[in-house]
Amino acid sequence: MIDWAAELARCTRCGACREVCPVFVLTLREPDVARGRLARIEAADAGGRLTHADRRALTRCLQCGRCCDVCKADVRVPQIVRDAKYRSGAGMGAAQQSITYLLADPQRLRKLTNRARQFAVALGRATADGSGMRLRFALPYLEAGRYLPKLPKQSYLSRTTGRAAGGGKHLALFLGCGAGRIFTGVGEALDTILASMNLTAAVPEQACCGLPAWGMGADDAAREALANFLTAFGEESIETILSPCASCTAMLQREMTEALSDTPLADAARMVAGKVSDVFVWLRENNFHPPHLSLRVAVHVPCHTRRGVRGGDALTPLLRATGAQIVELPAETASNCCGMGGSFGVFHPQESREIGRKKMAAMLAARPDAIVTSCTGCLVQLRDLADHFGATVPVRHGLELLSELLSG
Ligand code: SF4
Ligand code: SF4
Repeated sequence: MIDWAAELARCTRCGACREVCPVFVLTLREPDVARGRLARIEAADAGGRLTHADRRALTRCLQCGRCCDVCKADVRVPQIVRDAKYRSGAGMGAAQQSITYLLADPQRLRKLTNRARQFAVALGRATADGSGMRLRFALPYLEAGRYLPKLPKQSYLSRTTGRAAGGGKHLALFLGCGAGRIFTGVGEALDTILASMNLTAAVPEQACCGLPAWGMGADDAAREALANFLTAFGEESIETILSPCASCTAMLQREMTEALSDTPLADAARMVAGKVSDVFVWLRENNFHPPHLSLRVAVHVPCHTRRGVRGGDALTPLLRATGAQIVELPAETASNCCGMGGSFGVFHPQESREIGRKKMAAMLAARPDAIVTSCTGCLVQLRDLADHFGATVPVRHGLELLSELLSG
């Protein structure tokens, strides 16, 4: 648990965060910037209670950490906001409780995706690039026209769960919900890359990393997801746990130890967190040399990579090493969030899209041959935005681009 009094006292109310907060820059409302959020939390805390209304206000934070880049007082705004959501958790809606419960366990998650696949055709119409669909009508927390990625007939995990490691290293893959259940190409791409290094990674049974629950302050559901993760990946013989999604990586490397710190799983969490590696960091450390790439590439570095992943952004240098030309984005958008921000994109779809549009417009203006990222949540948002712009440029996970080079 965060020491609230100490954290809140550090904020000098300087207002530097107003220059960079994507939500404030859009709305120009003081309650939408770190300073305003902290003042609200402090006032509510002084009154002894954070209410449902406070919780609603806190959902307007992307938890992107952009304010931390400029905060000289080193106030950990995303952590404070997360913690405040937990404290006001009584106000969490039934839909949020249900979704965090379903994500936490492999069997429940499998049932959820199977059911979603059955209804998908009736719910939406396909986008022009065939990567997803737009909802024909509104559903709880999802507005009509919302982009949802296409669910594959067979997920990567349904084909590979139970596979053993091979090639002399005990690698294990944690795919996360996005790569494991939706974007089959990500896991397949990693298999191709590892095969080029004469390696195969084990695929234990798995569900969610717990981040959606943790970010919403649904700590019990997050802990259940993490306990399941530790059961599957706690084997001593596993040397490295590769994660292709920046958000899952940050959750497992950083947040897991805090989430389980006052439980009997604290030691196991610390030990396993040390084995988790961002896949691009691991590829660089293990001398993966992709063939030459003569493309202009726009890279969206996820917020979790910038502030949560050990080793930071390794995708950009890997691409540079291939000879790819990385397009320079304007300073005011280069470090910005894509607008998804976990549940922010669900609760505030208009603002989410407006924030993302600036980033997508800057990337498209550079006329790239491909847009790449390393987080499956960002991938959903970027594909939605590209479709809105009517852009035909492919939006890919970095692993897909690298594996295509190997396949010629
Ligand atoms: S930049 Fe930091 S210290 Fe200044 S107002 Fe924002 S949160 Fe407070
Ligand atoms: S975490 Fe992001 S959205 Fe939240 S206050 Fe900071 S900059 Fe704004």
